[in-house]
Amino acid sequence: MKDKNLVDSALETKDVTCVFQVSQGFMKGKKPLAAVKGVSLKVPKGQVVGLVGESGCGKSTLASILLGLQAPTKGDVLYSGESASGFNRKDVARRIQPIFQDPYSSLNPTKTIRSIVSQPLRIHNVGDPSEWNAKVAEILDLVGLPRRAAGSYPSQLSGGQRQRVAIARALIMRPEIVICDEPTSALDVSVQSQILNLLQDLKEELGLTYLLISHNLAVVEHLADRVAVMYLGRIVEEGPSEDVFADPRHPYTRALLESVLTPDPTLSVPDTHLGAVFPNPIDPPSGCVFHPRCADCIDKCKTIAPEPIQDGDHMAECHLADRSCQ
Ligand code: SF4
Repeated sequence: MKDKNLVDSALETKDVTCVFQVSQGFMKGKKPLAAVKGVSLKVPKGQVVGLVGESGCGKSTLASILLGLQAPTKGDVLYSGESASGFNRKDVARRIQPIFQDPYSSLNPTKTIRSIVSQPLRIHNVGDPSEWNAKVAEILDLVGLPRRAAGSYPSQLSGGQRQRVAIARALIMRPEIVICDEPTSALDVSVQSQILNLLQDLKEELGLTYLLISHNLAVVEHLADRVAVMYLGRIVEEGPSEDVFADPRHPYTRALLESVLTPDPTLSVPDTHLGAVFPNPIDPPSGCVFHPRCADCIDKCKTIAPEPIQDGDHMAECHLADRSCQ
């Protein structure tokens, strides 16, 4: 049943939580690890939402849930207002497809580009096999690869060309939504902007919606209409890109933004200037989970978890985010 209030969201999570039971070692039993905690996020149709945060913050688990690869422990995922809970894998694959970070490891080296790009059609039995070659040629045109590349193998292509193949494979099912997981971080700097421009052009041409997962805020600023900042399984700040970049309300977002000024932010996880103490997600800190690393921490931060504070369509989960109280 479609919720009429949600038709503007191509993708939405409602209070999604994902808990894993993690072994503590021999004879020590298991402990719960909440990789994603109560995440509610909307990705409006035709827009790009950037999801940023350090490694281990829960971005990849959230992406797996959105792709139907991991069931949430609690909460719901909606595609265009329809709950994904009644969808099978084929339904999900028609609506949402991933583009991963490393095009080389995600492409089977023993298969031709034709076979790789047409794989989703074969797996999901979409269309007539006699049409598949024509569909491959059409999608190669769209991603800027010559049609003769269909007979090549991944090792015969450059890194940028391989990422174009990965994009072609994701788009051949004509999904509405694409999850771009660090789509340029394995590429040479000189190629990164070409791939970002291609993603932008394809979005306009095909009316796509993107969730762009990246640790690189420069990439997010380039493409995203909205930004969500994730820390230890929670979205701690979310809003229009220009607001979040110009006026970050959460100290963690400010630290990430400062990291953009590090000498080579494209090559590694940013230096957040927050020290090495990334909390253990099995035993998260009390109160605000960011408090051991926060330069603005006040007494109540150590015992009381902040509620989300909304200012228009800009949200921050910090006791100090309410400007009217300062
Ligand atoms: Fe820092 Fe306190 Fe805000 Fe948490 S609630 S981010 S500790 S100021």
